[in-house]
Amino acid sequence: MNKLRVTIFNENHHDRFNEKAKATYPNGMHSAIKEALDADGRFETTVALQDMPSHGLTDEVLENTDVLFWWGHVLHGEVDDAIVAKVCDRVLQGMGLVVLHSGHFSKVFKKLMGTTCNLKWRESGDLERIWTVKPSHPIAAGLPEYFELPHEETYGEHFDIPDPDEVVFASWFSGGELFRSGCCFERGNGKIFYFRPGHETFPTFYDENVRKVLVNAAIWAGAQGGVRQFYGHWLSDNYNK
Ligand code: ZN
Repeated sequence: MNKLRVTIFNENHHDRFNEKAKATYPNGMHSAIKEALDADGRFETTVALQDMPSHGLTDEVLENTDVLFWWGHVLHGEVDDAIVAKVCDRVLQGMGLVVLHSGHFSKVFKKLMGTTCNLKWRESGDLERIWTVKPSHPIAAGLPEYFELPHEETYGEHFDIPDPDEVVFASWFSGGELFRSGCCFERGNGKIFYFRPGHETFPTFYDENVRKVLVNAAIWAGAQGGVRQFYGHWLSDNYNK
């Protein structure tokens, strides 16, 4: 079976310039995410960093990507609008997209959602209890009823997104907040999964359950429903081809 081609986009800023993030992810968060996917064996992974030419997301890279992972935070505004448009077009064509944590405010996610994608947040290192609220979903495969991250950034509702097609995970924080942490959407022919955890100063991407979610999300988002669709002037001759 052909491996799914996954590209991991990382802003790669905190990972280089924030002491705590550097200590937590000495090779960058993209490396921890890549390790999780590579350990599974079903993916061919590539890394795209924001300061690469075209942010590492050239036409050729996008054309050869089945699933794009996205982590960004403080440099969302510096992502080139032309690249954003190309990424969104590829999602509409059928490329899967997995948006992580503060990627909720990325241009790509906001454009695909059409809402502000705003939320409440607090960096107090609360405990996060992540409940599996749709256990029948493929992204929940092998996950327990709930799992905990001892310290994470808190996100709270209301999360200003369109109603997701499916909510797979929901978080409770020790400060009392609730949050829809694992949300599925379809846009055009593409599948989108938003996953909340993943603050840069906590070792979240080393957590075994989080890694299982990343793998399941890549498989789910990368599953193609059919061939790339034809749109536009359609001749009856096409039926004979
Ligand atoms: Zn954060």
